Amino acid sequence: MQDPETDPQVAASGLAAVRDSLGRACARAGRAPDSVTLIAVSKTVSVPVLRGTIAAGQRVYGENRVQEALLKWPSLREEFASLQLHLIGPLQTNKVRPAVALFDCIQCVDRPSLAEALARECDKQGRRPELFIQVNTGLEPQKAGIAPDNTDAFVAACRTRYGLPIRGLMCIPPAEQPPHMHFQLLARLAARNGLASLSMGMSADFELAIAHGATHVRVGTAIFGARPPPARPTDHA
Ligand SMILES: *Cc1c(COP(=O)(O)O)cnc(C)c1O
Repeated sequence: MQDPETDPQVAASGLAAVRDSLGRACARAGRAPDSVTLIAVSKTVSVPVLRGTIAAGQRVYGENRVQEALLKWPSLREEFASLQLHLIGPLQTNKVRPAVALFDCIQCVDRPSLAEALARECDKQGRRPELFIQVNTGLEPQKAGIAPDNTDAFVAACRTRYGLPIRGLMCIPPAEQPPHMHFQLLARLAARNGLASLSMGMSADFELAIAHGATHVRVGTAIFGARPPPARPTDHA
């Protein structure tokens, strides 16, 4: 048997199955299937496997590390103009320049210093990636994201103080809790701030997230198979 991480066949059938479930979840929720963007989360996935899912028509991908994305995507982007890349992992201020240059959407805006750096870099490069604010709905200390109570003020500051149009909110619910409370909270925060987009739902719960109004679901394992355990920082150049 082939290692699932390196087998384009696994990704092709995973993608088909996820598209199918997504379509059915939209139908159950009375929503148009194109009201939900499927972001294929491709962290740790190799370029040959990505070529397979690109050939199968998947154009939207999510990466959680700028460094890894820089190794994989610039050449693919030159080849396939319609690709859309989302940054879904924490962003250090010192990586803002390459992030703005590479990504079409940055989903992890979560603090004033980052908003300020993004505003400056977007002006400098003349690029305007779409921006989502990440909300730490479970108030987990190890997780990125702004606290729910501070979200209204942060959205307002992004708009007025930093001149950043915010498209929506993103959350990663605590692994050990039922996710629906977090989806509801994120939807409430978005509604009262006039934000149209909700990035929520992963392999285990994207159908539930769609029922709660997700406009973007971020699915990795269900498409590409299980990932190797996270590498330590020293394993990377
Ligand atoms: C890895 C990751 C995902 C995908 O998780 P799966 O359970 O593999 O679908 C979604 N969102 C973020 C922020 C991630 O880092």
